[in-house]
Amino acid sequence: MGTSYLESHPDENGYFGKFGGSYIPPVLEEPFAEINKAYKELKNSPEFINELKYVRKHYQGRPTPVSFAKNLTEYCGGAKIYLKREDLNHTGAHKLNHCMAEVILAKHLGKKRVIAETGAGQHGVALATAAAYFGLECEIHMGEVDIAKEHPNVVRMKILGARVVPATHGLKTLKEAVDSAFEEYIKDPINSIYCIGSVVGPHPFPMMVRDFQSVIGFEAKEQFDELEGKLPDNVIACVGGGSNAMGIFSAFIDDSEVNLYGVEPLGRGETLGDHAATLTYGEEGVMHGFNSIMLKDANGEPAPVYSIGSGIDYPSVGPEHAYLKESGRTKVGLCNDDEAVDAFYKLSQLEGIIPALESAHAVAFAMKLAKTLGNDKTILVNLSGRGDKDIDFVIENYPVPHAKF
Ligand SMILES: *Cc1c(COP(=O)(O)O)cnc(C)c1O
Repeated sequence: MGTSYLESHPDENGYFGKFGGSYIPPVLEEPFAEINKAYKELKNSPEFINELKYVRKHYQGRPTPVSFAKNLTEYCGGAKIYLKREDLNHTGAHKLNHCMAEVILAKHLGKKRVIAETGAGQHGVALATAAAYFGLECEIHMGEVDIAKEHPNVVRMKILGARVVPATHGLKTLKEAVDSAFEEYIKDPINSIYCIGSVVGPHPFPMMVRDFQSVIGFEAKEQFDELEGKLPDNVIACVGGGSNAMGIFSAFIDDSEVNLYGVEPLGRGETLGDHAATLTYGEEGVMHGFNSIMLKDANGEPAPVYSIGSGIDYPSVGPEHAYLKESGRTKVGLCNDDEAVDAFYKLSQLEGIIPALESAHAVAFAMKLAKTLGNDKTILVNLSGRGDKDIDFVIENYPVPHAKF
């Protein structure tokens, strides 16, 4: 019955419907064309596929398991909640899935240096790790505010041999880090490659990063079938740029009976500047080289955004998410800071898993949804990362709730 969704999206020019594309300055046209061409070749090359399989299995720790969250399910009372354990990846989050592949691509192109932005520091740590493994230089741009908040990851990047460059303008978070990294990349696109940290940026990155992350979904589909003998009824992931969500959604897009929920951070509330719920409150616009849905201020510029999860406070979103939402295939959920912290503690105390604050947004939404469903229904949550990076911040700002015992 024709080609699969993944094979037919995006189109040749990197469009998902009207979203995506490549809006870049002329100096970057050639480097991006080079990346596009290399990816087209590598994608079907047995050497590339085998090298990626090898590092995933023997270095990264894949496949990551799917765990039944028995106690959390009992606590919520309703649908059965399962977790895809991306927290168990080497470096503690899903990011290494695309970083290892991006660095293999960089090596193939003869690049000497990888450059990237990072929000919570997870992409920076993953890229610094991949660069160390494959012997490339690594430069990471990070907002000053995030540098202060995510101190352990900054130290990790430095220990791994990366250079960490603070972004000191504007709100000093993720968006400014992207601006800063792009500026540096434009200076030397011959020897460097920009390794984008999510399903964002100009074509071919949204497609490439999705393809690299789709391992999450394809593994989870098989593992879930082994456990339950069927497809999950609901799949949930948090959405910042949207890579962990696209990773798990990828395997289920053609299964129309599976509900796909991307959960956005509602932060402190609905006022512009207090959240990063782009798909919910945004409008069409071009930022960072691609057309998508974005949060704009009164002047049409990217609006200030906020979330307790440093990895999900981005004023745009991967173009494929914009497309899938507008086409009705995916649904958008919301979770505010307090709900995320509650889920952070609940998962820790009920399951012995400390989730990243970003991932806690998906868990919180799963808890709300589970209560509305019968116990014959199932939910598969992508637990995108572990929360070690967040423990100091949480304990200083939110007291530990009374333990169960
Ligand atoms: C970076 C990060 C995210 C957000 O990125 P996406 O591209 O939206 O997946 C979510 N969870 C964790 C643990 C992260 O490190």
